[in-house]
Amino acid sequence: MNILVLGSGGREHTFAWKLAQSSRCKAVFVAPGNSGTEAIATNLNIGVTEFEAIKSAVLKHKIDMVVVGPEDPLVQGVHDFFLQDEALRHVSVIGPQKAAAELEGSKEFAKEFMMRHNIPTAAYESFTKDNVEEGYKFLETLNAPYVLKADGLAAGKGVLILNDLQEAKDELKSMLVDSKFGEASTKVVIEEFLDGIELSCFVLSDGKDYKILPTAKDYKRIGEGDTGLNTGGMGAVSPVPFATKEFLDKIENQIVIPTVEGLKKDNLPYVGFIFIGLIKVGDAPKVIEYNVRMGDPETEVVLPRLKTDLVEVFEAMASQTLSKINIEIDERAATTVVLVSGGYPEAYEKGKEITGIEVVTDSIVFHAGAKSQDGKVVTSGGRVMAITSYGNTYPEAIKKSYQSIDKLNFDKMNYRKDIGFDL
Ligand code: AMP
Repeated sequence: MNILVLGSGGREHTFAWKLAQSSRCKAVFVAPGNSGTEAIATNLNIGVTEFEAIKSAVLKHKIDMVVVGPEDPLVQGVHDFFLQDEALRHVSVIGPQKAAAELEGSKEFAKEFMMRHNIPTAAYESFTKDNVEEGYKFLETLNAPYVLKADGLAAGKGVLILNDLQEAKDELKSMLVDSKFGEASTKVVIEEFLDGIELSCFVLSDGKDYKILPTAKDYKRIGEGDTGLNTGGMGAVSPVPFATKEFLDKIENQIVIPTVEGLKKDNLPYVGFIFIGLIKVGDAPKVIEYNVRMGDPETEVVLPRLKTDLVEVFEAMASQTLSKINIEIDERAATTVVLVSGGYPEAYEKGKEITGIEVVTDSIVFHAGAKSQDGKVVTSGGRVMAITSYGNTYPEAIKKSYQSIDKLNFDKMNYRKDIGFDL
């Protein structure tokens, strides 16, 4: 089959890499892709939300399956677009329809879903500019730190955690009244702060059954010791050592099953990944957020550990036969360290030549913000590449990633030197 992956990050390079290994796959296309996907697939110069252009490409290249990497096309209804068009209806889309994508598209929708289905999460209330005064009062009933979340998609920047009550009130006003995050902060969810360790759980759903993929933990802040500004993710490890069998059973029983059953009860067909952001509070797992796609950089450690043919997995999801698939997982640990442009997540320069890629042999180099230019690979984004390694133990995998990074270089290259060191 011919498969189109939508996206251009390390996540999409990993998807293309894994799909291309399958004997069931004739050709992989990536729109728009990067220098990494170009080496193993055909890049198409189309944006992920250009639905009409995607349609033309799907027909031209006789695409049988579309795998959606990022959330934007899902929240904008790319799956529905395929279902509504006679010429596209035969194409399988991996990613939920618009109604279910609201689990990520609206924090309030996600909170209401969790309340309705008794899924453990932080207590909350939501506010608009019409009741901002009530928002201030609600904040006064809480203890610091205060968690404010813009309801809509805000490119990962819409969550504020503040220690000072007055600052929290000011930010609430800025979000609701001064549209700090534009449309995304027309509504704001204020929630109880959960104190604990974070981990992510990834679930495959065919709308009827589910399978759970390995857990992962990502490192969000730019600086060592998890300090400084938030980023898209600076590294990840899988599995998460504190996620014991007993704790994973709790996640499955208290969160995964009620989520999958809740989607069915609410009549929300779901073919795709459910990425559940969790916090372990004492011994209890609680949901911080749902995402309706895989995480990046978590994909770069989760998919390399999947031994099962990914095309077969996706075909089973599309035909609602996921229960028949045996998900086999590599016992080894996987780690990834993300190389970023100096200055990221604030202003940074692009177009820097990346050297050494061809001499890395002990790790997999997944390209992200990187593109080909005049026969060279140059930086084109903040997160440039993710260096993934396997190891029988964590330290072994991490050591390999850092040894590989020593061979790579570009002007002002930056990365965290402590990925996995807290485990
Ligand atoms: P989100 O975009 O919802 O994942 O939030 C971004 C980050 O904010 C999460 O990864 C957590 O580190 C943090 N966070 C979100 N909600 C809470 C909460 N209720 N308590 C503590 N930390 C939170």
